[in-house]
Amino acid sequence: MTHKDQIKRFAAELGYHACGITGVYPFENYRSALQANAERFPEAGELYRRMERRATPLALNPWAKSIVVCVRRYGKYAIPEPLARHIGRNYLCDRRIKGCPDNTVPSRMKAQLAALGMRVRTGGVPSREAAVRAGIVRIGRNGFAYAAGCGSWINIEAWMVDAELEPDTPAPPAPCPEGCRACLDACPTQAIVDPYFINMKRCVAYLTYESPTPVPGELWDKMGPWIYGCDDCQNCCPMNAGQWERLEPTPWLDGVGDKLTPEALASMDQETYTNMIYPLFGYIPPNGLSRWHANAKRALDCGQLSDGDIVRPAG
Ligand code: SF4
Ligand code: SF4
Repeated sequence: MTHKDQIKRFAAELGYHACGITGVYPFENYRSALQANAERFPEAGELYRRMERRATPLALNPWAKSIVVCVRRYGKYAIPEPLARHIGRNYLCDRRIKGCPDNTVPSRMKAQLAALGMRVRTGGVPSREAAVRAGIVRIGRNGFAYAAGCGSWINIEAWMVDAELEPDTPAPPAPCPEGCRACLDACPTQAIVDPYFINMKRCVAYLTYESPTPVPGELWDKMGPWIYGCDDCQNCCPMNAGQWERLEPTPWLDGVGDKLTPEALASMDQETYTNMIYPLFGYIPPNGLSRWHANAKRALDCGQLSDGDIVRPAG
């Protein structure tokens, strides 16, 4: 069995939905897309420029020879649906949450690669573009990566290794049905300016937690019921029809359902936040409660909280 075969077998045994291999040569399309975005959206220029160094992984990792890329499917978890009205599904199923069964999968994959005698570095490449090049995802007009059999409800993980592995065939471009622009129409803040052109500084996922505050009123008023993240451009997508399957339980969300509501978050005290919410979102500063308060209050006031206003995954 070749190293490539062994790597794909490890990935499947660890529960990855797909695994592919590509080379470490520069990601020219990625670099030119970032430059085009920076030019078009100068207000977000520094966000795109920060990402540019990943276009040339060999510059910082001259020892690397191949990239191993895996797709994790999270659209298999039976999340409490009311939470997904306000919190992005990706965050509810974040593998970094201690109780999530996928929590240790990337480190175990890295250990398997090292056990084959390879030098390994996690990340350091544009993982989505690496996955396209490795043939395991295609990019929709909303900018999200789609994998066959699970839609866009995925995460991508990548490792550079110092072994020459036979690359897989890149994925063909443009998976979207001709004429579809459902995601552009669904975006509440018009962040998807044109197909594949997303202004990150208008995206609710950025505005709910990463952007400086206060968020400009014009955008704040359009953010609707979202408290953390946003799934509107994925929920409406026909390529996601039937792709969320409630196959596995989410024990890490047991007992927090009534704490992740707009009502509870709008007036949450620090102790409850520290003990119950922060462990789920440990990558944001523990002193961020005031931001949660503001987002939750806006969600309560947005007038879009009835069941009829909620966009669920199609299918
Ligand atoms: S995540 Fe939300 S705000 Fe961002 S592009 Fe998609 S629909 Fe628009
Ligand atoms: S909503 Fe339509 S255009 Fe947008 S990503 Fe999905 S299929 Fe493509």
